[in-house]
Amino acid sequence: MTAFGTVFMPEMAISWFDGSRWSEAEIVPSDSLRLHPGAHVLHYSSTCFEGLKAFRHGDGSIKIFRMDRNLARFAQSSRLLSLPPIDEATTGKMVIDIVSRFADEVPEVPGSLYIRPTHIGTEPVIGKAAAPSVTSCQYVLLSPVGSYFSGNGDSGLRLLLEEDAMRCAAHMGMVKSGGNYASALGLILKAKAEHQTDQILFCPGGDVQETGAANFLLIDGNTIITKALDSSFLHGITRDSLLTLARDMGMDVQERQLTVEELLERAAKPGCEAALAGTAAVLTPVGTLLHKGREYPVGSGKAGPTTARLCKALNDIQWGLAEDTHGWLTGL
Ligand SMILES: *Cc1c(COP(=O)(O)O)cnc(C)c1O
Repeated sequence: MTAFGTVFMPEMAISWFDGSRWSEAEIVPSDSLRLHPGAHVLHYSSTCFEGLKAFRHGDGSIKIFRMDRNLARFAQSSRLLSLPPIDEATTGKMVIDIVSRFADEVPEVPGSLYIRPTHIGTEPVIGKAAAPSVTSCQYVLLSPVGSYFSGNGDSGLRLLLEEDAMRCAAHMGMVKSGGNYASALGLILKAKAEHQTDQILFCPGGDVQETGAANFLLIDGNTIITKALDSSFLHGITRDSLLTLARDMGMDVQERQLTVEELLERAAKPGCEAALAGTAAVLTPVGTLLHKGREYPVGSGKAGPTTARLCKALNDIQWGLAEDTHGWLTGL
């Protein structure tokens, strides 16, 4: 299997905002984007994106998971970045059109077709560090994928607990924007080099938030604990879906503040589990936490049964193996 996100379908859907209206969406070769080198996005990071997946069901039909929620977040990110407003219905049609065109290329499960809507400020102006781009472009790229964190077996990820630094500026956390990943990258690379960690779990001031690109869930017996929504972190749709499924199963879902102290205390208990939730990661087990030079295995240090059960419940809906009781799937 090739690395996640390295293969693209040869065409994408695209539409341009000229300052007053969006152009009719077109399907063009995926490498045909033409930008002025002075484009606002290239200097001042006026960019946001989404990540969602289309799945092939046993009957051959193609279903997109929670597209409405991704479109709503795309519109919200665009708004918070002062990009031109996108119309969710129009972007939704672009998604449906391009996925329909490549429906035959949607991999069999557990693979899927990863969908990447992107919105960028295109105005050729380098004098607008403190003003929005008047023009913009949105496009929808497709990438067939397998699984994101491969080769971990059942040992789980190693996470460094970082209390001093933040993933991104506190008011930008809920925006799915390139600058936030750039802001976290140096820290993640440093942690990898110094501690052989897979990811950093950002816990500014002892408040457990999320990793670079996935939300964090602590599973202690029948209880799930995860940070309550605020503007400091990304409101994952996988997180929301898993919490909904956990409630359906009768679990006690606690959306509240989780401190590093409580996390380490609970993680030490046998049977405790932790996992990362995201469209790409789905629900990936966390095996070890590193804090102030010490290693803390989470429970057994291996993938746990509740993580597996929640992951399966989500996959079953995505893959058409369980009834879509929440209306999360959109057909083409
Ligand atoms: C995309 C993302 C997530 C996960 O969101 P999903 O909607 O579940 O894919 C979590 N955190 C960050 C920082 C992200 O970029």
